[in-house]
Amino acid sequence: MTEDIICRRLVGRTAVVTGAGSGIGLATVRRLASEGAHVVCGDVDETRGRAAAEESGGTFVRADVTDPEQVEALFAAAYDTWGSVDVAFNNAGISPPDDDSILETGLEAWKRVQEVNLTSVYLCCKAAIPYMRRQGRGSIINTASFVARMGAATSQISYTASKGGVLAMSRELGVQFAREGIRVNALCPGPVNTPLLQELFAKDPERAARRLVHIPLGRFAEATEIAAAVAFLASDDSSFVNATDFLVDGGISGAY
Ligand code: NAD
Repeated sequence: MTEDIICRRLVGRTAVVTGAGSGIGLATVRRLASEGAHVVCGDVDETRGRAAAEESGGTFVRADVTDPEQVEALFAAAYDTWGSVDVAFNNAGISPPDDDSILETGLEAWKRVQEVNLTSVYLCCKAAIPYMRRQGRGSIINTASFVARMGAATSQISYTASKGGVLAMSRELGVQFAREGIRVNALCPGPVNTPLLQELFAKDPERAARRLVHIPLGRFAEATEIAAAVAFLASDDSSFVNATDFLVDGGISGAY
């Protein structure tokens, strides 16, 4: 879909992508690199993260996004290698635990989801913003989800709460740092055909059909379609887009 588009909006920019080895992160690494960015790929999975960096001419840093020192090292590596941190796509995340109903999810499972999906975004923003302030420029895109905006009756209490936190934090930071040239947006994808979604559907095959009914476009997104939105938010084409919940959901949130 994107191959025919000649778009070089990110030449000379440095982008850090977490969860770079799979799904939305991998598609975004490819898209940002194709638009000319130096991409620094962070992932806890060394094999997949390194492969993403190699194919895109980028740099790999093994980073567990729940570890403050590893997150700082990831952004420091971007700056030390390329001299700037222009884009942070804070995207790494995990799916809900098997039964994520509030009546079933244990405290440890809840904490783990908050740590990987929400605290990680706090750590990445905290690490990225000082570089961006010094530059007087930056775009941060934090991956939330459409479930941060809508209830889904699918028993995803810890996951949904984590994504709601990402959305609120992104809005808060977008407002706080706008006058320093830093835009912060929450990306809210609908269901995307990635290993994360496939894993969920493998456990509960009927879930896919239940989800499809609610998507006006009648299909799940491909990761490349989400990556295209990230590239827009990363680029100056979105220079007046800030502190939003940027929905890429096939119309789910517009439907009744
Ligand atoms: P995915 O499972 O394909 O990829 C996630 C990547 O994150 C993997 O490479 C994994 O190794 C990495 N990762 C996991 N924990 C990590 C950690 N502690 N430190 C560093 N890296 C870690 O998933 P995806 O579908 O591409 O999801 C990416 C993001 O999009 C997630 O935040 C997810 O919640 C969100 N999202 C996904 C969908 C969907 O339907 N797939 C919809 C809305 C939002």
